[in-house]
Amino acid sequence: MPTLLERFLKYVQIDTQSDETSPSAPSTAKQLDLSRVLEQECRELGLKDVSLSEYGVLIATLPGTMKSPAIAWVAHVDTSPEFSGKNVRPVVHENYDGSDIVLPGDPSRVLTVAENPELQQLIGETVITTDGTTLLGADDKSGVAVIMAAADYLLQHPEIPHGPIRLCFTVDEEIGRGTDHLEIDKVDVVCAYTLDSDGRGRVDSETFSADQALVKVQGINTHPSVGKDAMVNAIRILSAFLDRLPQRTLSPETTDDREGFIHPYHVEGGVAFASARLILRDFETEALSRQAQLLESIAEGLRNEFPLARITIEIKHQYRNMREGLRKEPRALAFAIEATSAAGLEPHLDIIRGGTDGSLMTAKGLPTPNLSSGQHNPHSPLEWTSEIEMETAKMVLVELARRWGQESAS
Ligand SMILES: [Zn+2]
Repeated sequence: MPTLLERFLKYVQIDTQSDETSPSAPSTAKQLDLSRVLEQECRELGLKDVSLSEYGVLIATLPGTMKSPAIAWVAHVDTSPEFSGKNVRPVVHENYDGSDIVLPGDPSRVLTVAENPELQQLIGETVITTDGTTLLGADDKSGVAVIMAAADYLLQHPEIPHGPIRLCFTVDEEIGRGTDHLEIDKVDVVCAYTLDSDGRGRVDSETFSADQALVKVQGINTHPSVGKDAMVNAIRILSAFLDRLPQRTLSPETTDDREGFIHPYHVEGGVAFASARLILRDFETEALSRQAQLLESIAEGLRNEFPLARITIEIKHQYRNMREGLRKEPRALAFAIEATSAAGLEPHLDIIRGGTDGSLMTAKGLPTPNLSSGQHNPHSPLEWTSEIEMETAKMVLVELARRWGQESAS
């Protein structure tokens, strides 16, 4: 059987970029190139009930050695549309010497120790980077490789007690559709773990709660020569709207840690009609309605000033902080923390200023925290990982399987 590193290097060389502009599912057919390879590998490992759905969801079962609760390990095969994932040529730096790494395909790109202090703990280890011309895809092929290697390890160590483990590989996570076609009932487990966090030892137990706001301004266009008392310029009104948003607080540029924000990220339009898309984010779900009220009060002020304009705000639900959902199965987090310690790491409970497939799965009723898989600098040509971080993530999964194996199925 291939080593974890060999698996990883094979997976990253398969282009699996997703595409947010595509309406199909999966958004790009090429994601299935990797899903099919994994399907084959799951069969070769001897996993049971291997199935790849038409939407690209691959599920396989590692049978339990004990009558213990079933759990799932989840990773996504797609890579971000933000940077090219074609012709990825991973560069393996064995016995890393602790210096800055110049990427050979584009020497202007340098992985500096100053910007990546984690590199200091990896002297003598094997570090994997890109050649500088593509992303690496460690997000989330490190997670994919870790899960496959952990299943392989458990098969070779039948003395380790564990319940049934479902391996789930999803598509289109990077464009927010990762769980659209994942049927939670079919997965049929007490909890799941996504392997999609940075570095090592992290247990992410909170994500943002998230809504999107669409602000629409309907104006009235006339020839500018006869605009007096007739023209209602949607561009001016929308600009005023955006200008009245808090500028020194409540923005991504001015917040961190547990602070939320309102973030306009797209505007378009003309005199007759203009619109803006904003995202609303906070760790407290109630705060989202306060953010929506703030938008509404700005709109109300503008409606009074421009009675002939029509200003509307539509709020769309995106995802919710997984904290509430995780309370349903307290063992999900507790065992992740125990397993991380058992694998020799200092567990690190963390929050994510974003969402994961796990936030959506938790919202659907399946508690799903997120664990480290050795990623660094995702979505970028400076992306990197290391063999030791992926190997430790594998041992966290093995210890997690063992810990769940000590529980009896209800
Ligand atoms: Zn990811």
